[in-house]
Amino acid sequence: MAEAKVLVIDDEQTMLDACKQVLSKRGYEVLTALSGEEGLRIAKESKPDIAIVDLKMPGIDGMEVLERLSEIDPSMVKIVITGYATVESAVDAMKRGAYDFLPKPFTPDELRVIVRRGLEKRRLEAERESLRRERDRLKADFISIVTHQLKSPLVAIRQYIEAISSGAMGEVPAPVKEVLERCSERADELLKMINDWLDMSRIESGKLAEKMVPINLTGVLDEAIEELQPLAEENAIEIIRMYPERVPPIKGDSDSLKQAFSNIISNAIKYNKPNGSVTISLRDSDEGVFISISDTGIGIAEENLPYIFDEFFRVRSKEHPKLTGSGLGLSITKKIIEAHSGRIEVESRLGEGTTFTLFLPRREIE
Ligand code: ADP
Repeated sequence: MAEAKVLVIDDEQTMLDACKQVLSKRGYEVLTALSGEEGLRIAKESKPDIAIVDLKMPGIDGMEVLERLSEIDPSMVKIVITGYATVESAVDAMKRGAYDFLPKPFTPDELRVIVRRGLEKRRLEAERESLRRERDRLKADFISIVTHQLKSPLVAIRQYIEAISSGAMGEVPAPVKEVLERCSERADELLKMINDWLDMSRIESGKLAEKMVPINLTGVLDEAIEELQPLAEENAIEIIRMYPERVPPIKGDSDSLKQAFSNIISNAIKYNKPNGSVTISLRDSDEGVFISISDTGIGIAEENLPYIFDEFFRVRSKEHPKLTGSGLGLSITKKIIEAHSGRIEVESRLGEGTTFTLFLPRREIE
């Protein structure tokens, strides 16, 4: 590895010579400057790993030098030398980006220790940055692998199954058709799971926040309900809406909110009992809007309630072996609601039903 570069900026030549001697012996490449101006020029040219700056110098003062060094390279570690080691000047220097300070007079050992620690910090930061990049890359790879290599073939398989069972390739005997239908259902489950994974990796609070515009909540809820109506009918579930006359718009991202509502409402249908109902009500307040989704379903046992928003958590139940899912729906919903600075709460009684309440704050609408 190339040896670390240390830049010392001090208006006293003897100080520069002493530092150079101590640090060169440790194998560092030492650059020196007698003024802030010269120091900044060298920093620009040579990009040192560490800069040691005397706070008290004629010309540009040490504090300003610190700030300008950060502009040149934010990752450069800066250490200040203070002749008057007052707490205030040290605190001030830290606020302007200094990592540590060295009160005058100091011993060669103190200098060596502080430089070594500074370099260690720089190494750790560089490592952290490269891990962060690696994580982002893996995430992007994951999304593309899941989309292209899992999802696309699955969609194709499902289409082939459809084509066969529709009779387009010749008559299909009833028992075969039944098996094909089961294949299709399983493929749909797998597809739903893949879509949940994708949503999970795509939702990032920052990105959602950028897309927020004033939206009509009842409109978004109605769209979600409409899409789920066939599922409700299949399960003999009635969906009841209780909206106030007027709900002022709130700021949000309608696509992701629709998905959040849809996750909760589809659970309310899926985990319901035959001939049950789902009631969706809205309540407006000064702080924001409360949306509650109540069902008359199987309920959630108290011991499971703390975990239902966890990724991949599903209640295992012998009574309902047919209820499949990825265990991601609620955690995606929670992420979406939190990206809107909102909250989600749940109340449930086993065997009687469950109510999810979402709160979306009213924010300034320009
Ligand atoms: P899943 O894909 O399993 O539905 P979710 O994250 O949406 O995943 O839900 C997690 C678990 O919470 C479900 O497996 C189910 O056991 C429970 N659950 C969620 N909503 C309800 C509900 N309305 N009634 C009863 N149980 C529910």
